[in-house]
Amino acid sequence: MHYRSTRDSSLHVTSAEAIAQGISAEGGLFIPSEIPVITMEELKALAEMRYAERADVVFGKFLTDFTPEEIHACTTGAYHTKNFDTEDIACLTKAYGNAQILELWHGPTCAFKDMALQILPYLLTTSLKKNGEDKKVVILVATSGDTGKAALEGFKDVPGTQIMVFYPEHGVSTMQKRQMAVQEGSNVAVCALEGNFDDCQNGVKLIFTDPAVKERLAGNGMMFSSANSINWGRLAPQIVYYVSAYAEMAKRGDIAWGETINAAVPTGNFGNILAAYYAKNMGVPIGKLICASNINNVLTDFIETGVYDRNRKFYATCSPSMDILISSNLERLLYLLTDGDDAQIRDWFGKLAAEGRYEVTAEIKEKLQKDFAAGFCDDAETKQTIREFRERYGYTCDTHTAVAVKVYLDYVKKTGDTTRTLIASTASPYKFSASVLDAIEGVQDTADEYALVERLGEVSGLPVPESLAALKDKPVRFSEVIRKNDMEAYVLGQLGIV
Ligand SMILES: *Cc1c(COP(=O)(O)O)cnc(C)c1O
Repeated sequence: MHYRSTRDSSLHVTSAEAIAQGISAEGGLFIPSEIPVITMEELKALAEMRYAERADVVFGKFLTDFTPEEIHACTTGAYHTKNFDTEDIACLTKAYGNAQILELWHGPTCAFKDMALQILPYLLTTSLKKNGEDKKVVILVATSGDTGKAALEGFKDVPGTQIMVFYPEHGVSTMQKRQMAVQEGSNVAVCALEGNFDDCQNGVKLIFTDPAVKERLAGNGMMFSSANSINWGRLAPQIVYYVSAYAEMAKRGDIAWGETINAAVPTGNFGNILAAYYAKNMGVPIGKLICASNINNVLTDFIETGVYDRNRKFYATCSPSMDILISSNLERLLYLLTDGDDAQIRDWFGKLAAEGRYEVTAEIKEKLQKDFAAGFCDDAETKQTIREFRERYGYTCDTHTAVAVKVYLDYVKKTGDTTRTLIASTASPYKFSASVLDAIEGVQDTADEYALVERLGEVSGLPVPESLAALKDKPVRFSEVIRKNDMEAYVLGQLGIV
């Protein structure tokens, strides 16, 4: 197996090169040349393994230039109870109706991004070593709230790396902002941007792909890489938990071996749900992939009409990690659906960049709708879902997970589909305490974040994650706000190469 670019099928690099580079030079995303197979026998064998060993098996199929020892060092370093508050790493709940929730937020920052960002530094430093690269790696991150903190925690004090995180000034929750502002580590920087997440992401992409900046870095013994979900090293770890969850469900007897399940995923940049698509195409019996959006419903429209149109109002919602109008990983899905037609991808994504809009062919739309169902809900419905799900089952979920629950319930109502469904739960409710409490108690509380956390603890009965409780006493280190046009200067300044 090798890796290509979605905008240049002739490209031929190893997984270590793809992970080290992050994004391909011409702007495309790296993608494996084939989708490896996992058999039912292999899935049954996984059921008897711990999470890190399950990850070994899945990574072994994608990172074919890594030795088993290299992979094992990465997985055991990351998926460990020193980083996660549970042996299971990803926690599968019991059934609520026909749905089961996969809690992906037991890592150090309480969001599912930890599942990938705890292992990415290991994958990246191993890749660099394999490539014989001795440059210092500069990681630039655009975040809608959760990626930034998870990347900072993953990379803090990792030798040979420096990390900078950009977040939209008014686009993250109080807890998310606090988590980043107090970040520890000698190789980290955090900066707010006057703009939204798409501005952050575009700014980072522009700096990444600017040949002049690249040259400046190289001259100073540095190179860029990416910790955003455009990096294949973010995608591969997310495939693991879908494969693992299926084995776990069958092992527990929640489903029969071979029985088809659906997966509902709260979606923003399309990374998490794309990982589920990969798991499905490897051979895990997954039927429909239910793509759940908040009121920024560009993906719902796309899946229903085949028209991707980002020319619309941008809303700040109570599920801020999904407030995105340009869904980067969709490019990988479309590459797969067009059987690797790089010219077609260049055309569509050229149009997206120039006009903010493209339309896929009827054939692609049909393929899309075969695998994906889509829906969205607004903040009022999100909060109503948190309240009702809790009243009905005693389970308190966060705002992002609630979007997936609501869209799943709408899907069932519309289709009558009773297939057992895995709902990806992407954040701890404590990360969004104000919104979750508003949902449950109907009060817009303006108390400070820690009073809210305490109150949510009383109401939900869930233990407060240690990492969030500890933030209270840490000093603020980062409070700078800059304009879009000043990002490059900020980066060069941080690197000391102005
Ligand atoms: C990032 C994030 C999402 C969206 O995931 P994508 O992979 O970007 O689709 C959903 N929920 C939470 C809590 C997140 O942090």
